Amino acid sequence: MKKDLLIGSHVAFKAKDYFIGSVNESLSYGSNCMMIYTGAPQNTIRKPLDPENTKQAHELLKKNLIKPENVIVHAPYIINLASGKPDTRESSKTFLIQELRRVNELGLKYLVLHPGSCLDQDRNLGTQQIIDGINYCLEKANNDVWILLETMSGKGSELGINFNEIKNIIDKVNFDKIGVCLDTCHMHESGIDISNVDKVLTDFEKTIGIKYIKAIHLNDSKNEIGARKDRHENLGYGNIGFEVLYNWYVNEKLINVPKILETPYYEKENKSLPPYKDEIEMLRNKKWYNFK
Ligand code: FE
Ligand code: FE
Ligand code: ZN
Repeated sequence: MKKDLLIGSHVAFKAKDYFIGSVNESLSYGSNCMMIYTGAPQNTIRKPLDPENTKQAHELLKKNLIKPENVIVHAPYIINLASGKPDTRESSKTFLIQELRRVNELGLKYLVLHPGSCLDQDRNLGTQQIIDGINYCLEKANNDVWILLETMSGKGSELGINFNEIKNIIDKVNFDKIGVCLDTCHMHESGIDISNVDKVLTDFEKTIGIKYIKAIHLNDSKNEIGARKDRHENLGYGNIGFEVLYNWYVNEKLINVPKILETPYYEKENKSLPPYKDEIEMLRNKKWYNFK
């Protein structure tokens, strides 16, 4: 039963194997779900997709009983619908529409988006610009791809740092294809006590509704609760701790929601190594061990 819980990590999408390479990397960790960026997360330079590669990647997913809806995509970080600069808002919309189309072309369903940062603008104005931007892009993209708003840590002038701020956006989006991606590190650093999962989910149900949760980013945090710095840590090495993260992994109300690790690579013998195979094994066995 626990073997079937959805757990995976973010993986590369890069030359030369692209989507097929992402699936193979995930399988090497024992994952049954995953998250990709369709290019470098820091920029919006995107190579045209190869339909043959996409087709073969889907065959590989099918062979391994991974549903396409459990392969989620993360939008590039530099999209900022709430920027005070009209040029940045415009280019962000252009990129977001392009990204929604790419997710569709990849045969996938969910695109995770950081709501935005308002810099020195008023937070209400920033929120309204996010709402307008999302409505515009979902209409223009005109496909079945959903936007999942990620809960943010509150670093700088980020918006969407508590359930009310996410609710204020969702309430005014004119489409059903809107959901939420909860990030455990971000919630903790924004000041939410996430140690009692059921209590957090009860609050979420009252504010937004649990059915909106379509993805979880499962990360430990380098910082104390409320630090608002956004520093991810490996499971059990940070301030949230393995037990709490395990409770998020197994919670019954989130049984169909893919859990994605975005924890950092670690150094060993001068090599930078991915922690995901170990972290997945620890969760499946409900037992933490020092893998570093
Ligand atoms: Fe993110
Ligand atoms: Fe995240
Ligand atoms: Zn983060």
